[in-house]
Order: sequence, then structure tokens, then C-alpha cells
Amino acid sequence: THFGFKTVAEELKASRVRTVFSSVAANYDTMNDLMSLGIHRLWKDHFVRSLNPGIRLTSATTSSPQSATGQTILDIAGGTGDIALRMLDHATTINRDNATSVIISDINPEMLAEGRKRFATSPYYSTTTTSPNRRVSFLEANAEDLSAIESNSIDLYTVAFGIRNFTHKQVALQEAFRVLKPGGVFACLEFTPRLSNPIMNGIYKRWSFGAIPLIGQVVAADRESYQYLVESIERFPSQAEFAGMIEDAGFIVPGKERGDGGDLEGGWEDLSLGIAAIHKGVKP
Ligand code: SAM
Repeated sequence: THFGFKTVAEELKASRVRTVFSSVAANYDTMNDLMSLGIHRLWKDHFVRSLNPGIRLTSATTSSPQSATGQTILDIAGGTGDIALRMLDHATTINRDNATSVIISDINPEMLAEGRKRFATSPYYSTTTTSPNRRVSFLEANAEDLSAIESNSIDLYTVAFGIRNFTHKQVALQEAFRVLKPGGVFACLEFTPRLSNPIMNGIYKRWSFGAIPLIGQVVAADRESYQYLVESIERFPSQAEFAGMIEDAGFIVPGKERGDGGDLEGGWEDLSLGIAAIHKGVKP
């Protein structure tokens, strides 16, 4: 509301989101594979490749202080660490950067616990607070209030399949803008509410509204949570509306002015006929 109080509906939505992700946490990765037929892995790979995380070390930069510290990446709604792991792998193997680190942040402690488990068994990336090679840390926080993170401190902010669950998306975008350094990049991978081709959209909606809750019921004995996930996709703004929201938060949206060409022509990149899309913003 104007006075900063949450309405009953908003409280209900936030607690619904908490319950959904608490109940899906343990099966989350398997269910993602089943529901997207494994395609979410390709989207995530492409998303991370397009961001080229890490600092490419050259003989000229190896002695500079920047190359020694690497990038600070914030993966919001990072859940089980799927995006964070890919970003660290990319920085390390492609850019040969062993210093870039990721803060995995999520509102839900159960989802973060799954991420912690995954990194605890990783031989490559230390989560130990005392280790000088610490590459991963965890932060339980609402994306709409990142007060634990300093302004102008983050090089790259990522959010994959998270923002549609936020109650106040514009507030989260403003927080993203605040924590990023000037020149820092906001990047979002998210489902879109509909496909531009009406025939394909009909087929896709039949699949998502029919099969996904059913898979949820059969595999995870939780039809309701998966029904919610499908409905939350339907309510998310269109690609053009969302690009406008990113701009409203103060970002420059690459490719938004038509005729720029490139992957982000129009202000976003559609994936798989527009089932999902990538949006980016640069803090001036
Ligand atoms: N990024 C991961 C991935 O791509 O696999 C996880 C995505 S999962 C569908 C959505 C995540 O958003 C959940 O872990 C949930 O707890 C988190 N989430 C929902 N509302 C949030 C909020 N307001 N702030 C931060 N995280 C939130």
C-alpha cells in the first residue's frame, strides 16, 4: 500500500510461494528435468554462456588487482545452485578465472539447503568462510530487500526462473539496480506468459496446464504446488512489458531500440519459440 503495509493478499501470496518451494525443494532438480524434458539445462547453459562470467585473464591483466579479485556475482532466487555452478564452471574453465565468486541468495532456507548440499560435495569450489579460495556463499534474503548487500558492490546480478514469484517485481528490480556497480549487469531468465505463435501457444498451454500438475501429482505427490508454478507463468508480464519495467528501474536495456541487431533485438532474447526469454539491463 501507499503506507508500506502489506495487504492480506500480498501476505498470502508470499506465504504460498514459501510453502510451494519448501515442498518442492527436495525433488526440485528432478522435477525440472521431467517437466521441461531436460530443456531447462540448455536454456541455463545458453544464459550463462551469453553472460561470459569471470574475468578473462591475459598476460596484461594477471598482475592487476582486478584480476586478483575476480567478479562478485549475486545469483538471486538461486535455489539449488544450478546457475551459480554453471557460472563458476564458466569463469574457471573458459576464462581461467579462479577468483570470481557467487553469492547464492534465496528467500527459502530449504532451497538453500539443497544448494549447500550440492556445493559441500564439490571438490572445486570452497564454501568455507576461512578459505582464501572461497568461491560460494549463501544468503537467505527476500529479493525485494537486499539490505545485507552494499550498494554498488555487485558486478553481475542473475535471476533464473525466480522473479515471477516475487510479490513486488519492480521493488526487486530497484534493489538489483542499487546493489550493482555502475557498468554492472542485470540478467534474467524467465518463462513468458505466452508464445507469439497462437497454434504453438495452444499446444504448449495444453501441455503445461495438463501434464505439469499431473507429473507433480504422480512423481512428487504434490499437484497443488505444480499447479501454482504453471499459473505463476501465466501471470508474468510479456517480454516487452518486462523490458519496460527493467528500464523503469534505471537500467539501459541493450537492443531495446529497434534496429540494434544482435541477440537482444527489441530488448530481450526468446528461447525455444519464446517459451522462455532472457532480459538484460546495464546500470549506467
Ligand atoms: N534459480 C533456480 C533455478 O533456475 O533452478 C531456482 C528457481 S526456483 C523455480 C524459484 C526460486 O525463487 C525458489 O528457490 C524460491 O524460494 C525463490 N524465491 C521466491 N520468492 C522469492 C523472493 N521474494 N526472494 C528471493 N527468492 C525467492
